[in-house]
Amino acid sequence: MSYRTVKFQLFPKPEQEKRMLLNLHACRATYNDLNEYCRDCVQRYREWRESMGVDEGQDASQYGTDTNPVPGFPSMFDLTAKAGELRDINLWRREAYGTSVREVGARIHKAYQRWFDSLIDDPSAGKPRFRTDGRYDSFTYPAYEQYRLDTQGLFRGKKPRMFLGGVGWVRASNNGIIKRVPTDCMKQAVISRKKMGKSNKWYITIFCECLEIPDNRTWYMDAETPDPVGLDLGARRVATLSDGTVVENHRTMRKNEKRMAKIQRKISKAEEGSEERRKYLGHLRHLQKRIDDSKNDVLQKATRSIVQNHTKIFVEDLSVKKLIDLQDNKESRKLFRDASAGMFMRLLRYKGEETGSEIVPVDPAYTSRICTKCGKLNKPFSEETFRCRFCGFTKHRDDNACENLFRRGMGFDILGTSSIAGITEAEAEVHN
Ligand SMILES: [Zn+2]
Repeated sequence: MSYRTVKFQLFPKPEQEKRMLLNLHACRATYNDLNEYCRDCVQRYREWRESMGVDEGQDASQYGTDTNPVPGFPSMFDLTAKAGELRDINLWRREAYGTSVREVGARIHKAYQRWFDSLIDDPSAGKPRFRTDGRYDSFTYPAYEQYRLDTQGLFRGKKPRMFLGGVGWVRASNNGIIKRVPTDCMKQAVISRKKMGKSNKWYITIFCECLEIPDNRTWYMDAETPDPVGLDLGARRVATLSDGTVVENHRTMRKNEKRMAKIQRKISKAEEGSEERRKYLGHLRHLQKRIDDSKNDVLQKATRSIVQNHTKIFVEDLSVKKLIDLQDNKESRKLFRDASAGMFMRLLRYKGEETGSEIVPVDPAYTSRICTKCGKLNKPFSEETFRCRFCGFTKHRDDNACENLFRRGMGFDILGTSSIAGITEAEAEVHN
């Protein structure tokens, strides 16, 4: 069993916030009423003890009789029931969420238990206090039934929302962690308010008990659903997936090329060993680091999301170096290099090992030239758009290629239909 808490921000609409504040005030009022009640109980016990001549710290239970019993302290159950009663007789408190209000009984019980414990070490320890408005900032949903996560929305890629009892559907911050903790692990949740001047920030903290630590794949995807995907490494795009995902080449390098060239010119003009030259060398290092950092960031995020969403990834069975050599012109070779295909594959492989996703190499022959609509083989081309000369089908070349990789990975004979076009496999061999 592993325990963890997840916390994220909530963004209630004004009318929802009004209801959350009502809950908070109702809980605070109940807390103070119960505190009053508990203090009375403690007072009654003291009076009884003095009247019976029992010393402090002595076991009082043996002095109690049937007609004059020891005044006991209410149990957690008593206090919870009392909180419910108090809610029923107060018109405005009845508007608040009942379960949260009753839970205050457990809170006050805990507060008094803590106080009793501290009395053992320090007889002068102060009783639990009454809470003013600024000093009571949270209310509790004791179980998942009283709040819930919009799992359907998450599945469809929407922003997270939470249903809060007595409040409604509230937007939540896009915290990746809620996609990694299954809802059946979620137990108690605490809604807390943080005062920011005149406005409030709201948070939800969920206590989770997981039987096993969930892997970092998004849990709400059905594990049985096959979700393999074809992945094509490209020049203009770092990678294209057959599910439509595109990892764009951010071209940080190209954007910064002019600045780099400028600095390099300055360096070459500056005298060897001069102060000026050292300065420009520093500038160059700084720029290089920024380029590397932003590239690294893009690749890390992209590869993580790919292995989290796919158990099987079909990739071209080519060493990346060979891929670069295959690029026909200098421009696209350069693009390919700063797209960091090699680093991308390295990250993908090791993240795949972490999540248990399989990276399956697939024979890449003709994958960029076969039409995904009619299945016929086209001549080599260098344009960004694939245009089938048999059926006129057009698609981005990488979209076309990764679809072919996917089909071949799944075991379909993608070239099998090409003979209809008059090009047989033997002919295709010649074209290649
Ligand atoms: Zn076609």
